[in-house]
Amino acid sequence: MGKEKKGDLGGKELEEVVRGLPWEGVKELLSNGVCHRCIFRLFGLQGRVYTCCPASLSSLFPTATTEPQLCTLCLGILQFTHSNLQTSNLPLLIAQTVKQHSFHFHSFSLELSIPPIILDNDNSLRSYMKTKYGSQPWFQHFRCLSTKDALKFSLIHPLENLLECKSTMGSFRIRLTYTHPKPSKEDHTSHSTKRTKTGESSMVGEKSLSSLPENDSSDCCNFLLEKENEPCHFTCFCYRTPFYFGGRYLKYSRNVSQTRWIIDDERMGEASVEEIIGGNILQACQGDSFKFHAAGREDIDVRMLGPGRPFLVEVQNARRIPSELSVKEIETTINNIENKLVRVKNLKLVGSDGWNLMREGEAEKQKQYAALVWISRPLKDEDFQCVSSLKDLKVLQRTPVRVLHRRSPLEREKIIHWMKIETIAGSSQYFLLHLCTQAGTYIKEFVHGDLGRTHPSIGSIMGCRAEILQLDVTDIKMECFQT
Ligand SMILES: [Zn+2]
Repeated sequence: MGKEKKGDLGGKELEEVVRGLPWEGVKELLSNGVCHRCIFRLFGLQGRVYTCCPASLSSLFPTATTEPQLCTLCLGILQFTHSNLQTSNLPLLIAQTVKQHSFHFHSFSLELSIPPIILDNDNSLRSYMKTKYGSQPWFQHFRCLSTKDALKFSLIHPLENLLECKSTMGSFRIRLTYTHPKPSKEDHTSHSTKRTKTGESSMVGEKSLSSLPENDSSDCCNFLLEKENEPCHFTCFCYRTPFYFGGRYLKYSRNVSQTRWIIDDERMGEASVEEIIGGNILQACQGDSFKFHAAGREDIDVRMLGPGRPFLVEVQNARRIPSELSVKEIETTINNIENKLVRVKNLKLVGSDGWNLMREGEAEKQKQYAALVWISRPLKDEDFQCVSSLKDLKVLQRTPVRVLHRRSPLEREKIIHWMKIETIAGSSQYFLLHLCTQAGTYIKEFVHGDLGRTHPSIGSIMGCRAEILQLDVTDIKMECFQT
């Protein structure tokens, strides 16, 4: 930062800014061990003045007093002095750390966490200065910009140059955490609790400062007496906020589970939808991990056909965010996997509200199925009419025997919206039953009756024994992710 960069304040302008400060106040602050940048923020200065190099600043301040080794207010934060690290060029060090993490990004946002003791220091100083200089005209300009905001002014512009992109509120975050071993004076008061909960107030509000007791002698004296020798500890790390892929999946296998399914170290089925889709997305984004969430589920032996089932994949800490084109490439990669167990459609990046959309959609959806059914007698002509004439049929289902070990015993009412029989050439006891039902209906049980636990059932309607051999989901009607 020794060289004057475009955009930095010129020597003349800087001189004007510094010379314009009330000298009585500046001298008092310097003699109390307050650093140059803190002096700027105490007088409410903003912008580029914080990025000026310390050497050029020192010459502008009174010669009798030099900048303290460790600022009594910011405890080194604005001097780039830390207990674990000292540097004259913090932006460069941050930029180097960021580059090591190999994130791809087009903007960054800076997150700062500063210990509460810094705000205590500001409050003590303000109280001290008010007592001593409150009647001076220049004291009206004594308004604290928070250390956090001053730090942003000191770092953002140089970081934008070093990282060659703008600082905006995006998914890529650089987090700087400052901690100090000394606890806050107000750690036990409600004021302080509130502040730490909301993650430090960004601006030291005029209100909170002026509401301090007028003549708090302990505060006035404390400011002068308490010299802290320990700078803050500094850490820097970067991360990306989660982002989401949405789409629909099709499952062509009766031996693939929706999610990874392991019982006693043994995998059930040959693969899972979750791993095939999530794994490919994760690899393309170079993320740390992913979460897979689908709107409902089908049994491992049920195929998912038609327009497919909506799903979301949440990727944690992705190093790269794929372009629209590379999202298409991920879809193609998944769809070209040789075994063709699973396919995806309409894969796209969606906002984080995708979760809510899907939950809302789940509540209202209808599902269509095709079931391969066997009955204990040959099909009769009147069966077709009998079955298809039933509209919005109410069915009572007690929790199926096959899931009783993990679901509580309940009786639920479900609706079968419509049904249709499709014959299979050359077969009189096998047929395809197409049906549209309310979400959550147990289809297998609706066919065979589950020992009377589901009523009515295809068996009871047709007056014979009915068995289900295969089941496919053929459509899911939902509000979101329309095809
Ligand atoms: Zn300072």
